Amino acid sequence: MKVLVPVKRVIDYNVKARVKADGSGVDLANVKMSMNPFDEISVEQAVRMKEAGTATEIVIVSIGPAAAQETIRTALAMGGDRGILVKTDQTVEPLAVAKILKIITEQEGADIVILGKQAIDDDSNQTGQMLAALLGRSQATFASEVKIEGGKAEVTREVDGGLQTIRVNLPTVITVDLRLNEPRYASLPNIMKARKKPIDEKTPEDYGVDITPRLKVLKTTEPPVRTAGVKVESVQELVAKLRNEAGVI
Ligand code: AMP
Repeated sequence: MKVLVPVKRVIDYNVKARVKADGSGVDLANVKMSMNPFDEISVEQAVRMKEAGTATEIVIVSIGPAAAQETIRTALAMGGDRGILVKTDQTVEPLAVAKILKIITEQEGADIVILGKQAIDDDSNQTGQMLAALLGRSQATFASEVKIEGGKAEVTREVDGGLQTIRVNLPTVITVDLRLNEPRYASLPNIMKARKKPIDEKTPEDYGVDITPRLKVLKTTEPPVRTAGVKVESVQELVAKLRNEAGVI
């Protein structure tokens, strides 16, 4: 069974994002970039499936600038077999990503595509769902447990207020949530080995996909600064403040 794992290069989750002076977006100049944390979980899931003998090959795909090759290498060091870099310096919105992934999934004959539930830069949470729709395949989103058995996937999903378990037919598209697993760190020998694994280089034009953005960013702003708290002396004072100042009771 072939597994495709799309990984996105995003601003590192430890970096405090700063808005560009002209408000046109987040400043990414000289900022640490890493693999989207949810995509590390997808890679880990695919590698565990290969270790269990369920998956035979893991193909890693990234759509982005030349530096996204590093992200692919990280996934290869974790256990991916080979990579495809779809190189572009333009912003690629979820629909365009899904269209490119659809063609790659079909060309590769991938039985399962495992994506992150969302990329932490734009928090879109759209690509997996769009990909499943474009492919006409089943989808199991927000997975916190995945079992593959007899041509089906049993997936426990994190939904509001609890867990839901569904069974979907293969081929399918799965998006992973935070609790599915704890991704491994790539060992030094595996990082060295990953350098020799092949990465194909393509462009969106190779797939005939028009990636022109359909959305226009009107403005980007910093979140409001939190004002300092105050200490109250008594419950009475707290209640009075909640009633008279905050107006919440
Ligand atoms: P999003 O819909 O943008 O929140 O992203 C959800 C998931 O789609 C990510 O966790 C990745 O698995 C995948 N994805 C989104 N953008 C890209 C990209 N440019 N290259 C590869 N995978 C992507």
